Amino acid sequence: MPDRIIDLSPTISPDLPVWPGDPRVTLRQPYHLARGDDFTLTELVMSAHAGAHVDAPAHYVRGGAGVDRLPLDALVGPARVVDTGDAEGVTAAVLAGLSIPPGTERLLLRTRNSTRGLMRLPEFQTDFAALAADGAQWLVDQGVRLVGIDYFSIAPYDDLAPTHRILLEAGVVIVEGLDMIDVRPGEYVFVCLPLKLKGADGAPARAILL
Ligand SMILES: [Zn+2]
Repeated sequence: MPDRIIDLSPTISPDLPVWPGDPRVTLRQPYHLARGDDFTLTELVMSAHAGAHVDAPAHYVRGGAGVDRLPLDALVGPARVVDTGDAEGVTAAVLAGLSIPPGTERLLLRTRNSTRGLMRLPEFQTDFAALAADGAQWLVDQGVRLVGIDYFSIAPYDDLAPTHRILLEAGVVIVEGLDMIDVRPGEYVFVCLPLKLKGADGAPARAILL
C-alpha cells in the first residue's frame, strides 16, 4: 500500500464553481429516509466537465474518440508534477526550462493557480494560468500522453480552441479541475478514472496521486 494518497478531485456539490454558462451541479433526492422512504437515493445533474474531469478527443475533434475509449494505460502510471511558477501562459519556453525528463508520459502542471488557491474559491475565475498553444505542441513533440492542470481548463479562457485541438488531435489525454494546492513538485503515480460515458466528450473523474 502507498504511504500516502493525495486526493486531487474537488468535492462535487451545488457549491462547486462551474464554467460560465454550464449547468450548476444539482443533487436531488427523490427518495429520502428522512421523508419516510425505505432508502435515500440521489439523482445527479451536471456537466460532464464539472469538477476534476477528463477531456476526450470528441470534445474538439470531429469524429474523435469518446471518453469511454481513452486508453486506461495513459490515465494510470508514473507522473511528474512540475511547478510553473508565476507564468500566466505556460509556453514552450516555460516548459523547456523545467528540466522535464525525456520520456515523461504524464505531466501535471502546478501553476500559479494553486499558489493563488483558485480551485478552492467559491466563484469561477477567468484569469487562470493555462497551457499556451506552443506549450501544447511542445508536449506533443516530447511524447507526453497525459497532461493535467490545476484549474477548469487546460487552455486560456479567451483562447480555448488551439491548445485543446493540438492535444486532442495528437491523442493526448487532458485532465482539468485538479486541486493541487497541497502538492509539491516531484515524481508520483497518478491514477485517474473517468466515468465510462459512451461517446462523451468528457467525464468527471476521481484523480489521486500516490
Ligand atoms: Zn473539459
